[in-house]
Amino acid sequence: MYDVLVIGAGPAGMTAAIYAARAGYKTAMAEVGVPGGQAATTEIIENYPGFPQGVAGPDLMYKFFEQTQTFGVEMLYGYVESLDCSDEVKKVKIGDSIYESKAVVIASGAKPKTLGVANEDRMRGRGVSYCATCDGFFFKDKDVLVVGGGDTAVEEAMYLTKMCRKVTLIHRRDQLRANRTAQNRAFANEKLEIVYNTTLEEIIGEDKVTAVRLKNKVTGEETVMDINGIFIFAGYLPNNDFFPAELEVDKNGYVLTDEKMQTNIPGVFAVGDVRKKALRQVTTAVGDGGAVISAIEEYFA
Ligand SMILES: Cc1cc2nc3c(=O)[nH]c(=O)nc-3n(C[C@H](O)[C@H](O)[C@H](O)COP(=O)(O)OP(=O)(O)OC[C@H]3O[C@@H](n4cnc5c(N)ncnc54)[C@H](O)[C@@H]3O)c2cc1C
Repeated sequence: MYDVLVIGAGPAGMTAAIYAARAGYKTAMAEVGVPGGQAATTEIIENYPGFPQGVAGPDLMYKFFEQTQTFGVEMLYGYVESLDCSDEVKKVKIGDSIYESKAVVIASGAKPKTLGVANEDRMRGRGVSYCATCDGFFFKDKDVLVVGGGDTAVEEAMYLTKMCRKVTLIHRRDQLRANRTAQNRAFANEKLEIVYNTTLEEIIGEDKVTAVRLKNKVTGEETVMDINGIFIFAGYLPNNDFFPAELEVDKNGYVLTDEKMQTNIPGVFAVGDVRKKALRQVTTAVGDGGAVISAIEEYFA
């Protein structure tokens, strides 16, 4: 029986675990992979304070992990298949084992939707990105392609125009889906070119992206365009397949919480990218992970 069981050892989960264990709660963390989450998959993080030269994602996450071990957080390695909240004591199923805990912190994160085009996986981190806030700066004064037509794609394309030489946004339909204000700002931006009815067919390059093959959906014509980076905004998916039916989520499956990270189920909290929030970054994940401790303490009190 644990006091606090954290599901997911990304930056949000590890921060929550550090706070809980340091406060004297018997704490465990369930993780299917190597601790670190998405942040451990990026070569360099330049916007996490305290590292003026930037820090390698895996290095930063290893330090987080070491700190969880300093405070005695137990690791439960494996995939969480279900979370049963029908009793006051919560049950977390990993393989054939059921772990019981008085409180649970969901920190299972999210993943970007991929397009499945040729070389997309191989070029991830070598010119293919799913986050302009994270990687835009690496393409300072370079030409980039943005794929998508919704609010995020248009807003991130606008953000990229601040640092890139030219931004080309391609959309598979004949008009954008983004809100009217974002569209108007995009149309007025001289560094942003919008190309409609166009899909990304192939990413070209050996060690890094050098070009893309595009297809006009109306004429069928294919063209090769030289480019330094590609930002794909096809949406994000929360890691939520173990959620109990009674847990309240928004229409996209993100957990709804109050500002203390409390969900609608007493004793169940959610932190980081898995919850509905405005900005998904390491800093905000860490902020959530720290903030949840006050709600946990109130719950136990
Ligand atoms: C390529 C890339 C580059 C990025 N660069 C930056 C950057 O430069 N700066 C920045 O601030 N942010 C960056 N981000 C965003 C940042 O990494 C995320 O916002 C942050 O990691 C979210 O933390 P989290 O703990 O909420 O979730 P995650 O990091 O997604 O961690 C969730 C963890 O839960 C585990 N998990 C999920 N489901 C289960 C399950 N059922 N059972 C067991 N374990 C489970 C996962 O394996 C994972 O380890 C980047 C993201 C990516 C993908």
